[in-house]
Amino acid sequence: MGEQYKIIDHRFDVIVVGAGGAGLRATFGMASEGMSVGCITKVFPTRSHTVAAQGGINAALGNVVEDSWRNHFFDTVKGADWLGDQDAIQYMTQQAIPAVIELENAGLPFSRTEEGKIYQRPFGGQYLADHKTIAHRTCAAADRTGHAMLHTLYQECLRHKANFFVEYIALDLLQGPDGEVNGVMAYCMEDGSIHRFTAKAVVLATGGYGRAYLSTTNAHICTGDGQAMAARIGVPLQDMEMVQFHPTGIYPAGCLITEGARGEGGYLTNADGERFMERYAPTAKDLASRDVVSRAETLEILEGRGGGPNKDHCFLHLEHLGADVLAEKLPGISETARIFAGIDVTKEPIPVLPTVHYNMGGIPTNFHGEVINRRDGEDVVVPGLFAIGEVACVSVHGANRLGANSLLDIIVFGRAAALRLKETLPGLKSPETESNAGEAALARFDKMRTASGKRRPAEIRDAMQRTMQNRCAVFRTAETLDLGVKEIREVAAQMPDIGITDHGMVFNTDLVEALELDNLLGVAMATMDSAAAREESRGAHARDDFPERDDEKWMKHSLAWVENQQAGEVRLDYRPVKSQPLNDEVEAVPPMKRVY
Ligand SMILES: Cc1cc2nc3c(=O)[nH]c(=O)nc-3n(C[C@H](O)[C@H](O)[C@H](O)COP(=O)(O)OP(=O)(O)OC[C@H]3O[C@@H](n4cnc5c(N)ncnc54)[C@H](O)[C@@H]3O)c2cc1C
Repeated sequence: MGEQYKIIDHRFDVIVVGAGGAGLRATFGMASEGMSVGCITKVFPTRSHTVAAQGGINAALGNVVEDSWRNHFFDTVKGADWLGDQDAIQYMTQQAIPAVIELENAGLPFSRTEEGKIYQRPFGGQYLADHKTIAHRTCAAADRTGHAMLHTLYQECLRHKANFFVEYIALDLLQGPDGEVNGVMAYCMEDGSIHRFTAKAVVLATGGYGRAYLSTTNAHICTGDGQAMAARIGVPLQDMEMVQFHPTGIYPAGCLITEGARGEGGYLTNADGERFMERYAPTAKDLASRDVVSRAETLEILEGRGGGPNKDHCFLHLEHLGADVLAEKLPGISETARIFAGIDVTKEPIPVLPTVHYNMGGIPTNFHGEVINRRDGEDVVVPGLFAIGEVACVSVHGANRLGANSLLDIIVFGRAAALRLKETLPGLKSPETESNAGEAALARFDKMRTASGKRRPAEIRDAMQRTMQNRCAVFRTAETLDLGVKEIREVAAQMPDIGITDHGMVFNTDLVEALELDNLLGVAMATMDSAAAREESRGAHARDDFPERDDEKWMKHSLAWVENQQAGEVRLDYRPVKSQPLNDEVEAVPPMKRVY
């Protein structure tokens, strides 16, 4: 197979796949320590999905009201509905403060308070020590925080002379004789060439897989490539049933209106003009956790109080905030509402509905970013493989991520992976490049490139997205999930009949879409199966038939091994949640009823 394709070889100390916030933070961290780093990305770094992040990044700086990282720790454990690992949550919330200061020093243009400190706004589910007073913990650059962050990080990477391979899609991981990960195969979308990257370690930072669903705030590039590559070398995917729906996607386009809009004083109503969140979350109201608000909206719609001719959405009011506040604090979303809903936010409410937004689940790692497999009831590190950011499941978000904790996750664990590699790189094996390395990846690629069946990638993708949207959404039951388990396999079974219109290799968008679809199908299957198996309601996973959280049976992480995607073979197992923090600087938060 290798003879058929001319392979261009590259060698680095470390390969990073992905140039979003996580990939760039890891890349510059390693480059600044003198490691040679190659960063591969499907899109230009500053077009990565992180650019879309609006509201901000959490850190208990206490710039607006006094705060402590211990409050942040408590809120994150509670927000995660006790499925998060408390050692990793301590690491993240404690490291948040130096991580944000580091970004400020690197030049991130944060908004400012009157005294010139970093501006912090309230976000959902976050309180001070009394667990009642709303915290101001979310550091913001207006409503374009991700954009500001990505540009700052990219500049740092250039300053440290990192190497970028832009518009390359990584196909599969390479492994050495002892299972150590030592490279990736990639296809350059610009000129159709095939590349083999070898290194002592590979860091996956490829983001989420929102595109498995029909309605999502995620960019078209969020196709679960990293999760699928890890699954193909036998790594399980963890807590995949935990898919976050954001309560304020614009109806019907799905684009996001940040939670920061409610943080600045926005509120939701139903078609009767009622502020319904007062009934569902009497204390936190519109600033309850995302899963709580999304379920409340869905119930309002199901019970006939939705807006519009089809009674299928709710309303977000910002008009009372005044044109000046909107222009200063929320300029981006004012523009988004105008473009995607034709709404002038200074005069009328925005129609909104819950939309797929974030994947809490992903590749299991420890808090150094090292990927963890599980064999015979024991955790084992996969040598040479790291995962950071939305592709990973550390797990700091558990069953429900708090708003503004993802930009934090990508920065803290991007940095953690760089620190770990500084320590461990000398001990990792140097890859011996064998001339046949990557044969299996090339065979898979070639099969897709030459596929001449009847079904276009878009047709199969549409069937997958509808299955996920209809069977694995905000509310779930055994009936919908069992149908989903069957139907997603029927969709995957269509793959041998896929057809690529252009069998060349240059600018072949059909081919790239087919490769991405193949990745999405495996992660969709893991999501559906994990959801069908979890017989309780926890965080984002709300079962009508099992409405209560069941800590005795289910306070454990789901693990799904996609053993044979084509044949629909997925194996499930579980690992205990880590219920103890890293050390005695903070007390463990035992499970309790989660009310807002
Ligand atoms: C609209 C919106 C607003 C948000 N706002 C906030 C917010 O205010 N605060 C917050 O904390 N979180 C927010 N989030 C979530 C947060 O933005 C994301 O979770 C986070 O940016 C993910 O970063 P990442 O680095 O893991 O991945 P991404 O930024 O998605 O980057 C993934 C990278 O991987 C590359 N890639 C993928 N597959 C391949 C492949 N096969 N080969 C090569 N490269 C590949 C891509 O090119 C890209 O560079 C928001 C999300 C959305 C959708």
